[in-house]
Amino acid sequence: MKLLVTGGAGFIGSNFVLYMLKQHPDYQIVNVDALTYAGNLENLKSIKHESNYTFVKADITDANAIEELFIQGVDVVVNFAAESHVDRSILDPEVFVKTNVLGTQVLLDASRRHKVGKFLQVSTDEVYGTLGQTGLFSEQTPLAPNSPYSASKAGGDLMVRAYHETFGLPVNITRCSNNYGPYQFPEKLIPLMISKALGDEPLPVYGDGLNIRDWLYVEDHCHAIDLVIHQGRNGEVYNIGGNNERTNIHIVQAILEELGKPQSLITYVPDRLGHDRRYGIDPSKVMDELGWKPKYSFEIGIKETISWFLEHQDWWMRIQTGEYKEYNSKQYSGC
Ligand code: NAD
Repeated sequence: MKLLVTGGAGFIGSNFVLYMLKQHPDYQIVNVDALTYAGNLENLKSIKHESNYTFVKADITDANAIEELFIQGVDVVVNFAAESHVDRSILDPEVFVKTNVLGTQVLLDASRRHKVGKFLQVSTDEVYGTLGQTGLFSEQTPLAPNSPYSASKAGGDLMVRAYHETFGLPVNITRCSNNYGPYQFPEKLIPLMISKALGDEPLPVYGDGLNIRDWLYVEDHCHAIDLVIHQGRNGEVYNIGGNNERTNIHIVQAILEELGKPQSLITYVPDRLGHDRRYGIDPSKVMDELGWKPKYSFEIGIKETISWFLEHQDWWMRIQTGEYKEYNSKQYSGC
């Protein structure tokens, strides 16, 4: 089987590439990534000279470059490539529409013309908007995105749906809750707080800190995507989440405690615009239909993550200094 993985140099995409090379050593993986600020080939350094793995630097909005890849044959597309940070989408929404909507459409069009066996769109629970104190997002929950990021993801998802309904393209959409784990870019909550705590810097917490997210260890997400690729029913959406709802302040306190740092480092800052209050996923469909269940409890997953960031301080410091960009440019030159 030949997989085209987009955004495979990012956080979840790189974890997925490493996971699939281990689980399915007989598969061919082509990783296509534009290497934006969030793409880091150092995440994939452990792949030495494997003949079943190729990296191609390309932008998913570039229809010619994408066509070149499809001409060489693709069985399954897994689309991780996206602008993914809500705060950046508030500052500059345009690139979110380009990559997350137009880029998805470019990939769908090539997938249709080249008759791929499956197009899997990796999406987010944020497309459902926000919850009150009770209830969970199911696959039937209407889309009601509140940020430019989630609106652009919802736009991409609707395009995937349309290509299935209009052209009969075999698709799945997965909508996952917040991920955490190794290789997460240090602008996101958990790695940001770990890196600040290690530097004894103030830990900025939005608003009252009581916004709730449903956390999933990245490896559990990769496992769910693997199952959907192989067993997902055509045209279906699968919500993925580990029933791990936590307030942001709980996460920050837990990180400080684990690192033996004072809680006085917590600093409340003005709330994010349009900040969704609560996300919570009902994962019963992926569990009942595909037999998925998370391996990691939040308590174990957060300990693993903190240990990883402690052991890989050079990795996130090279991001903070910008040195990872030099590594990126050396890796793809000549490809
Ligand atoms: P990330 O920002 O870490 O990685 C995104 C990757 O996409 C980067 O390697 C970047 O270089 C690449 N990319 C961006 N624009 C591109 C373009 N135009 N062409 C080609 N490559 C491009 O993101 P992530 O956290 O790994 O998220 C991956 C996917 O999973 C996204 O689609 C996101 O919406 C979804 N998702 C993320 C989470 C989460 O908690 N991180 C939760 C649910 C769903």
